[in-house]
Amino acid sequence: MALAFDEFGRPFIIIKEQEQKTRLRGVDAQKSNISTGKAVARILCTSLGPKGMDKMLQSPDGDVTSRLRIGDGTTGVVVMAGALLEQAEKLLERGIHPIRIAEGYEMASRIAVDHLECIVQKFEFGVTNIEPLIQMCMTTLSSKIVNRCKRSLAEIAVKPVLAVADLERKDVNLDLFKVEGKVGGNNQNVKFVLEDVGANLVICQWGFYDEANHLLMHRNLPAVRWVGGVELELIAIATGGRIVPRFQELTPEKLGKAGLVREKSFGTTKDRMIYIEHCANSRAVTIMVVGNKMMVEETKRSIHDALCVARNLIRNNYIVYDGGSAEISCSIAVEAAADKFPGVEQYAIRAFADALDAIPMALAENSGLQPIETLSAVKSHQIKENNPCRGIDCNNTGTNDTHEQNVFEALIGKQQQVLLATQVVKMILKIDDVISPSEY
Ligand code: ADP
Repeated sequence: MALAFDEFGRPFIIIKEQEQKTRLRGVDAQKSNISTGKAVARILCTSLGPKGMDKMLQSPDGDVTSRLRIGDGTTGVVVMAGALLEQAEKLLERGIHPIRIAEGYEMASRIAVDHLECIVQKFEFGVTNIEPLIQMCMTTLSSKIVNRCKRSLAEIAVKPVLAVADLERKDVNLDLFKVEGKVGGNNQNVKFVLEDVGANLVICQWGFYDEANHLLMHRNLPAVRWVGGVELELIAIATGGRIVPRFQELTPEKLGKAGLVREKSFGTTKDRMIYIEHCANSRAVTIMVVGNKMMVEETKRSIHDALCVARNLIRNNYIVYDGGSAEISCSIAVEAAADKFPGVEQYAIRAFADALDAIPMALAENSGLQPIETLSAVKSHQIKENNPCRGIDCNNTGTNDTHEQNVFEALIGKQQQVLLATQVVKMILKIDDVISPSEY
């Protein structure tokens, strides 16, 4: 096997004939990819929803790397994609071409996304009324391992997001946020307090050459080297400084400003971290998580999800009721629309409607309810009352009205989930040649 490049510099792999162990073409290639996708979805299916089970990932060397609990809509996307693949398999069996399936799925996804806009509710909040946003983030955090501190984590996410949000333009730049983690806990501060004017701290992405090192030491100037590019940009934004390629290009107006820079070490580890505080421009935020390895990683992911929820609602403050109710409502709408398509796509559109049902069924099953019975009952309830809020009562609250249960999702989040699942499946369906070299 050799790596080569075409005339545009794009890499490709040349496999010698004798190395070629398996080659799957056409429907066989699609079926093989479909079964891989379905296997991933099957694993994640049982972790969907508030009663879903966590997954433990073990690396080949035996290290437990993380518990899989995604929580930003990703599990839902995978479950939906798995259901779309399962339906596609049946359509392939019936001789429908994968491209026609992909086209039908695309049409159905547009029907579902448009339908979501017909069942929205407005979500009111503001700078002086942040409680609804906090509540929304708390809902997201409920399904996480860190749910015991969901209130404080939700506040940690919402307050800085609102501080940097441009509510007029309905935008938040999440690049201004960095969620950092450190294993350990004890703090020992080594302080260097900044003076008022002149460069009294140098921060560099790379190392310093000898002459610079000598100069810095001679002037007694503290310096930090090997700082990541992203971090350097955030520091520049926060302090109002400019990144310069050479010392010679430094001028007073390019200097950034911060009130305090201190170094903190973490417990028994030798890790240290530089804190840059009281910056000129507080629009760059670093959220620092300290704890044991697994908790740090889980908390970082959870805060990231909460930040995304808050960002989505600032961009567009419409919500749809969830707990499977939005998918059921879309499934009804897509099913009804299928009849209007005269061609073969209508099979794929109906299949899409069936795939949408996979989410409420998984939620029901994970909550100990009978999936098919529960789905049929809720669906007929929705149709009878023309009420898109009927969903799955995962927490046994006594009502399947997700409005009353207060379970909802940002409209754009739900739309993205539907679109993403569709795109992933379309990509898989368009692969018709799988070559696996013998090394694998
Ligand atoms: P994801 O990674 O997709 O966000 P989660 O495990 O967080 O996965 O599950 C999200 C799903 O669980 C959504 O369909 C959401 O509507 C549903 N859900 C969350 N909380 C509740 C609840 N209290 N009652 C019913 N459904 C819920």
